[in-house]
Amino acid sequence: MSATVQNVDLHCHSTVSDGVLTPSEIAARAKANGVDLWALTDHDEVSGIPQARAAAQDLGLGYVTGVEISVTWAGKTIHIVGLNFDEKNQGLIDGLAKTRSGRERRAQDMAADLLNKAGLPNTYHGALKYVGNPDLISRSHFARYLVEIGACASVSDAFRHFLTEGKPGYVPHRWATLQEAVGWIRGAGGVAVVAHPGRYDLTPLALDAFFLEFKALGGLAIETVTGSHSLDQYEKFTKIAYQYGFLASRGSDFHSPQDAEVDIGCLSALPQLVRPVWDAWIPA
Ligand code: AMP
Ligand code: MN
Ligand code: MN
Ligand code: MN
Repeated sequence: MSATVQNVDLHCHSTVSDGVLTPSEIAARAKANGVDLWALTDHDEVSGIPQARAAAQDLGLGYVTGVEISVTWAGKTIHIVGLNFDEKNQGLIDGLAKTRSGRERRAQDMAADLLNKAGLPNTYHGALKYVGNPDLISRSHFARYLVEIGACASVSDAFRHFLTEGKPGYVPHRWATLQEAVGWIRGAGGVAVVAHPGRYDLTPLALDAFFLEFKALGGLAIETVTGSHSLDQYEKFTKIAYQYGFLASRGSDFHSPQDAEVDIGCLSALPQLVRPVWDAWIPA
């Protein structure tokens, strides 16, 4: 059956987190771009799922539930995608609420830091104009405001000059543990996937320790073909998936038509070396 699934995109964001399109608008865009299996994976939040599912159903678009959970591992932020779970599971809902709960305080501290170190006033209220879900203020919203006021030329510039380690507006934050995130996803019947593993600032030794721990906790897959990887990294992480016995996932990490490096559904096919993650719920 999985042979009939051609264009799969299992990673993107709506206004429910730091994307700029609503769940239904993304569903329509995914359909128009030829996607036939889709997951919306908002950061630390599942409240967009009912709208996403209904829109997908109306469009005849294959759909599975998704989320992207923020994790702190060895002092670094790592993202874990959960797929094909029951979004009504209480353990998952409570865990995500706990993960979101520090964002408000962090945003105020970020604004104070931007004022102190870069003389930029009122960035908290500026960022809020871009927030669709008051529970989910993120660095992306600050980045959009910094572009609006001309402090940066683009969102990626905003992350280059602000908001990242060592730069004004960066505030260290403790997210969920790896064990919690994988546990919440598995407890809700889902599959845990390492998001964009090429993006983390980990030595090869630390990355190995991370993958082994993720696997021991019951993690099943890693993203290989993602909008956050270079073409070289598609191959590198496909080989890594093979070595560790992980399934492979594919997703654009689409946030916005303006800033998108990769549009939804517009990615290379998964290399054949490893089985796709959707084989975990659609048997081959
Ligand atoms: P937060 O969860 O508030 O720390 O924000 C993380 C989000 O910021 C990520 O999910 C990306 O959407 C965005 N982000 C992080 N780094 C960059 C970057 N270099 N360029 C563009 N967006 C980024
Ligand atoms: Mn994001
Ligand atoms: Mn991510
Ligand atoms: Mn993402």
